[in-house]
Amino acid sequence: MRPEILFPFFKPITALKGVGPRISVLMEKITGPHIVDILWHLPSSYVDRRFSPKISDAPDHTVVTLDITVMKHYPSRNRRAPYKIACFDETGPMDLVFFNARGDYLKKQLPEGERRIISGTVERFNGVLQMTHPDHIGLPEELETIQTVDPVYPLTAGVTNKTMGKAVTSALEQVVDLPEWLDLSFKTKQGWDNWKESLIKAHHPVEEEDFFADHPARARLAYDELLANQLALALVRRTVRKASGRIIKGDGHLRQKVRDSLPFALTGSQEESLKEIADDMAQPLRMLRLLQGDVGSGKTVVALLTALNAIEAGMQAVIMAPTEILARQHMETIEPLLAGTGITPIILTGRDKGKKREAILDQIKSGKAQLAIGTHALFQEDVEFDNLGLAVIDEQHRFGVHQRLAMAGKGQHVDVLVMTATPIPRTLMLTAYGDMDVSRLLEKPAGRKPVDTRVMALNKLEDVAHGIGRMVSKGARIYWVCPLVEESDKIEIAAAEERFSHLKSLYGDRVGLVHGKMKPTEKDTVMAAFARGDIDVLVATTVIEVGVNVPEATVMIVEHAERFGLAQLHQLRGRIGRGMDASTCILLYGAPLSENGQARLKIMRETEDGFVIAEEDLRLRGAGEVLGTRQSGLPEFRLALLPAHENLLAAARDDVKLILEKDPELQTERGQALRTLLYLFEEDACVTYLRSG
Ligand code: ADP
Ligand code: MG
Repeated sequence: MRPEILFPFFKPITALKGVGPRISVLMEKITGPHIVDILWHLPSSYVDRRFSPKISDAPDHTVVTLDITVMKHYPSRNRRAPYKIACFDETGPMDLVFFNARGDYLKKQLPEGERRIISGTVERFNGVLQMTHPDHIGLPEELETIQTVDPVYPLTAGVTNKTMGKAVTSALEQVVDLPEWLDLSFKTKQGWDNWKESLIKAHHPVEEEDFFADHPARARLAYDELLANQLALALVRRTVRKASGRIIKGDGHLRQKVRDSLPFALTGSQEESLKEIADDMAQPLRMLRLLQGDVGSGKTVVALLTALNAIEAGMQAVIMAPTEILARQHMETIEPLLAGTGITPIILTGRDKGKKREAILDQIKSGKAQLAIGTHALFQEDVEFDNLGLAVIDEQHRFGVHQRLAMAGKGQHVDVLVMTATPIPRTLMLTAYGDMDVSRLLEKPAGRKPVDTRVMALNKLEDVAHGIGRMVSKGARIYWVCPLVEESDKIEIAAAEERFSHLKSLYGDRVGLVHGKMKPTEKDTVMAAFARGDIDVLVATTVIEVGVNVPEATVMIVEHAERFGLAQLHQLRGRIGRGMDASTCILLYGAPLSENGQARLKIMRETEDGFVIAEEDLRLRGAGEVLGTRQSGLPEFRLALLPAHENLLAAARDDVKLILEKDPELQTERGQALRTLLYLFEEDACVTYLRSG
């Protein structure tokens, strides 16, 4: 249960001054629903009102705070004309200008003949200084409160900076300082303040440096967030591992049979990973391991041989994919490889219903099905296993962190191997998995030819459309990827359909189309036709992104490549260069291309190393954008900025290790404070993994 001290933090934002029910709806969109969310909403810039020149010295286009006397009001003569108020100081005159003004209100605020303090941006019109809509109007004695630095917040339509500033001030007033969860010597060494002081400072920037990632206030808040993240992950992981696993150690007879039938030798990386995984499975602890391998690095074979290890030991294994297409593809790859082993894999996806599904469930429950391949349908509640020993989860970056944990909870003693083709930069790996065991397939299977990547402007599209004719006639198979439209699936599909009919007019029946809104059976039919070579040109939206394997495909064209994330482009390009023939990738961009866009496409041209691409992507775009966070399942941070706070992340990880060694159940005074930290960052679920304090 959330500690009482945090109750005020989780009150709705309507409990703040100036936040009514109407404004709160708008505000929530960018902050979140609770007071704590307002605290995390840090300013992005500031307005310095400390400059107070005389009227004649005020420079154009600057923010100034002036001490003036009101001379005369000139109400607007019609609705569009401005309301003007002539003012002066000892150096000269100036005008205040208001549009859509209420005269009675202005008369009260700025009575003729009286002194007032005003603050805002000034400029000169026909030599006369003018301030339109002052940000502040106050009495002479309010000079010092106005003459400060105002934080400027990221806003949304309908919420002014004043409203946001008031809400933040009110939020800061309502919350108390919290017991210190930082290690004191570390805190001193970093030169950090207490939590609340840091928060107040972060909300009151007075110079450029206050926005730097290494500014003490910002750094401390970022560290707190990263510490909560690392602690939560460590607790989950410890709980999963602690659930005693079983020793899984097959005799190797099935694996040998499959190895003998493979048309290739395993790469060094594959062998090494298999050994690491087998060693892990042989431990009495529960395995929770990540197999990281770029597209085409040969993860499927590793998954199969790992599954066979469990099956040799008399247990069942599942291999789970995020989509129907991929599950079927795994089935098609794996089934023939099992010929001669006496093992018949079964497949279960969301498409299986009624009697058919029941029959499959029976086989799984009786243990007759030793290997089950499928989608998340395999993890529905009514799916019972006889003796599940291993779950392989493929391409799991499509699943969120929490889903992943739920899956790990499915079988009590099940070893879990998650496979990802997304080369997540090390930094981000840590935020999503903590210190998870990782095996990596760094080596590509032999015989791969590098993909020749070219970058061209979209106005070359007609040339490209005609140019592929030559390739088609030589038997090449071509992916044509249509632009990503973030806002609308409909527009995306319409674009794909248009390109489809365009290419059909050139190449007739040799062209096929797949997109996300097609029925799974229709999609499969088209994909299968492409795999067989009945179709040569496959027009697609990004549904082909993950995992699909057609070794004969040697050309990929991507429209509006600049709209895709680098990781996504890398995934797409990984669909080609899988066979023995040389491959070409053409990235078409919409001009003009931003500098950042140029840099990103340049990386695509220069390297095929997924890890290099991922690191560069992180550097160029920041963590928020990498991998399209929406679908990546990576956590989003409010205060920490990656990669800028990378060093803090590493420190938090080490900190957590020490904390859990010394105080595994968070019982000490610092431990209690850390529990509060977990609640503060809404990691409530993780606290349940601890003995009650
Ligand atoms: P991914 O890691 O993207 O899932 P796959 O497992 O689909 O990669 O493998 C890609 C292709 O490489 C498949 O056609 C597979 O048969 C082949 N392959 C896998 N391992 C090797 C190897 N050691 N040598 C040659 N080809 C291999
Ligand atoms: Mg794969």
